[in-house]
Amino acid sequence: MKNQYDLIVIGGGAAGMVAAGIASERGAKVLLLEKNKELGRKILISGHTRCNLTHDESNIRELIKAYGDNGAFLFSALNNFPPQEIMNFFENLGVKLKIEDDRRVFPRSDSSQEIVNSLIKYLKNNKVEIKTLAQVKNIFKDKTNITGVELENGELFNTTNLLIATGGLSYPGTGSTGDGFKFAKNLGHTITPTIPSLVPLKIKETFVKDLQGLSFSDIEVSLYQNNKKITKKIGDILFTHFGISGPMILNLSKQVITARKNGNVELRINFKPKQNEKQLDLFLQKIFHDNGKKTIKNIWDNFLPSKFVGIMLDLADIYPEKLANSISKEERKKILEILHDLKLTVVGDMGFEQAIVTSGGVDLKEIDPKTMQSKLIDNLYFAGEILDIDGITGGYNLTVAWGTGYTAGNSLALPL
Ligand SMILES: Cc1cc2nc3c(=O)[nH]c(=O)nc-3n(C[C@H](O)[C@H](O)[C@H](O)COP(=O)(O)OP(=O)(O)OC[C@H]3O[C@@H](n4cnc5c(N)ncnc54)[C@H](O)[C@@H]3O)c2cc1C
Repeated sequence: MKNQYDLIVIGGGAAGMVAAGIASERGAKVLLLEKNKELGRKILISGHTRCNLTHDESNIRELIKAYGDNGAFLFSALNNFPPQEIMNFFENLGVKLKIEDDRRVFPRSDSSQEIVNSLIKYLKNNKVEIKTLAQVKNIFKDKTNITGVELENGELFNTTNLLIATGGLSYPGTGSTGDGFKFAKNLGHTITPTIPSLVPLKIKETFVKDLQGLSFSDIEVSLYQNNKKITKKIGDILFTHFGISGPMILNLSKQVITARKNGNVELRINFKPKQNEKQLDLFLQKIFHDNGKKTIKNIWDNFLPSKFVGIMLDLADIYPEKLANSISKEERKKILEILHDLKLTVVGDMGFEQAIVTSGGVDLKEIDPKTMQSKLIDNLYFAGEILDIDGITGGYNLTVAWGTGYTAGNSLALPL
């Protein structure tokens, strides 16, 4: 029958494409509906357009730690389609891959377009019917099951199974505008509160603007609230015109946003975590002594970037032309504090517009982790970022999309 499918997938992102292809490989008649003109818009911008498609971790128990408390839900899905299988899947589609030092996996071409092209080829080889510029407006249900969908233009399609893979709310320009949350809610599902995650932070102190563009590796950042340390992380940060970003800050952002609901939070930066306070103080004394006849602004060669030195001296209220051997103990203490405990007040975040992922979503208690099937409606499935799962940076979020998409596509009941 025309317009009758075994599976309709709403959303042509990472999760939807894999699910559609897998179901079709199993013999299902599949229709993939995508509201954009093209498939995989978010994949294209992922990994700075290089697409960090997964993380090379074969131990699933280790892997699921990257997703915090909700990670346990992923145990089956990521066993079904673990990183090694994800890599095999793409290599079988002709994409050559590489594993970088930090175990992030990329296409050797460094081109996210190659990943999208390979998925489109996969869908076409498996005869998935693809409809773009097809925004789903309504989902129809009889007493117990989903029966079909309606597009914005009024077109109707019937189905025996429906997968909602519409993504979350982050980077809405890619098509993730939260439609799926509305659909899920209307169908009786609970949506746990959504917040941006992996998002840059806004900082009150205006001097950060002057540090814009500077990045630091292997520094320690501690999150404080009411003078109490909540957590600390070591990694890389980047100063921007509004505040701070960089992998470690992105990974910390969810905790910062959650903590801010209970009041102000502060980040304390230790630029030299390998030296304790005493060691750093001795080091400062030594360089001030060894370079005594030089101006204080000119003695930091390989130790600090020159842009930072100017700001540091300004914050410490030290005249940059002062000779190093005339720096007082109090002035040295001020430098020490800036290097070991620079306080930054978080005043906000860059929101869903710049969040790599959405935290919160369809409540996992209402989804079968072995199949991605709704526990409320038998022929309804969810996959990808729409679920209340989010991971840190490093290829973990696409891993969820592939893993849950694969599981849904492989689980749905097909007509005999
Ligand atoms: C800038 C950026 C960089 C990233 N880099 C990485 C990375 O390198 N590695 C990594 O692991 N993760 C990365 N992520 C996260 C990762 O890309 C996402 O978590 C993942 O793509 C989510 O896949 P999805 O299929 O669930 O959703 P999406 O990719 O958002 O796909 C959902 C699709 O559904 C469509 N849709 C929505 N509503 C409707 C509707 N009503 N009708 C029809 N279609 C609809 C949308 O247009 C969209 O195409 C990045 C994210 C961003 C924003």
